[in-house]
Amino acid sequence: MAPSSAPRVAVIGAGMAGVSCAAQLQQCGIAVTLFEKSRGLGGRLATRRNEAGVAFDHGAQYITAHTPAFAQYLERLREAGSAAVWQPRRAATRDAAHPWQVGTPGMSALLKPLAATLDLRTQHTVDALRRDGDGWQLCCDGIELEQRYAAVVSTAPAPQTRALLAIEPLLQQALDEVRMAPCWALMLCLREPLPVDIDAQRHDRGAIAWLARQASRPGHAPAAQAWVVHASPEWSTEHRELSADAAAHALQRELVQALGMPLPAVSFAQAHRWRYALTTRALGQPFLASTDGSLLAGGDWCLGPRVECAWQSGVAIAGALAQRLLR
Ligand SMILES: Cc1cc2nc3c(=O)[nH]c(=O)nc-3n(C[C@H](O)[C@H](O)[C@H](O)COP(=O)(O)OP(=O)(O)OC[C@H]3O[C@@H](n4cnc5c(N)ncnc54)[C@H](O)[C@@H]3O)c2cc1C
Repeated sequence: MAPSSAPRVAVIGAGMAGVSCAAQLQQCGIAVTLFEKSRGLGGRLATRRNEAGVAFDHGAQYITAHTPAFAQYLERLREAGSAAVWQPRRAATRDAAHPWQVGTPGMSALLKPLAATLDLRTQHTVDALRRDGDGWQLCCDGIELEQRYAAVVSTAPAPQTRALLAIEPLLQQALDEVRMAPCWALMLCLREPLPVDIDAQRHDRGAIAWLARQASRPGHAPAAQAWVVHASPEWSTEHRELSADAAAHALQRELVQALGMPLPAVSFAQAHRWRYALTTRALGQPFLASTDGSLLAGGDWCLGPRVECAWQSGVAIAGALAQRLLR
């Protein structure tokens, strides 16, 4: 726990970047408040349950570690029982060189140990930032908070961070270079098993980019005929403004075509639009900072479309801020 006289930092967004940043700042003795607009933490590391209690990992599918530091972080999570290696029968070779790791019982579990002691304010949407002397004040859901922060870190996806940084046109200009594509995800329960001998399949062409049998994932109920299907970035962009119901119907039709067979009877189908799902053009550096170093922004959009990139960005921001605030 940080002493009450410690500098206080506001971190916006409780995905991998925000949580790893906040946890590392706290470890350095810096007081942190983590603001998240959703009801829980995880961001795109998401697990959703339907009314029957069936779990769907409908955002990030698996994590790979390309650096020793992130591999160590995942190893600690495996030892704590929050992560496991997923070995699906797969018709996909990309990333085959690195073990596929997942959160258990769901992807958001990857953040729970890190977030356990953080001051996390869920259902708090930060909608404006205001300079106050050499510090910052935040406006949440239209209300200005009393607390003053020595620094603010935004880890919202690039377009949402851009909207928050209206006071820093130079940072906004840098953000204009970043591109993020949407992804429609379909969560599906079938009454009978799908007659295919794969648990995960990537398609490089067509409307369907990915499908995964949820029961094959460590921590998921083995009996449920639950699948997560992702549309390709092209299809998702073209159909970005569909309603969730229309997208659920259209994606079932596309799935029938991609598999070349009819689906068994469907007992549950729900679509979710990830408006900013995958970074297609990254910033090319681990984070952005204002000239005085008190306003910073990061996330996967800095380095690439992977959870490890979000982690690297969050850790890099924490390192830079700790150096500045504790000198
Ligand atoms: C469909 C899909 C499949 C993917 N598959 C993989 C995969 O297999 N492997 C892989 O490595 N990566 C994958 N990714 C990418 C991976 O999920 C991301 O790279 C990573 O989770 C991004 O973490 P982040 O912290 O940068 O952002 P996010 O997880 O998006 O976190 C940002 C948080 O900020 C919050 N927020 C936004 N605005 C505000 C505001 N104004 N106030 C408060 N809170 C705010 C959001 O609610 C969110 O929780 C996938 C992503 C998607 C969507």
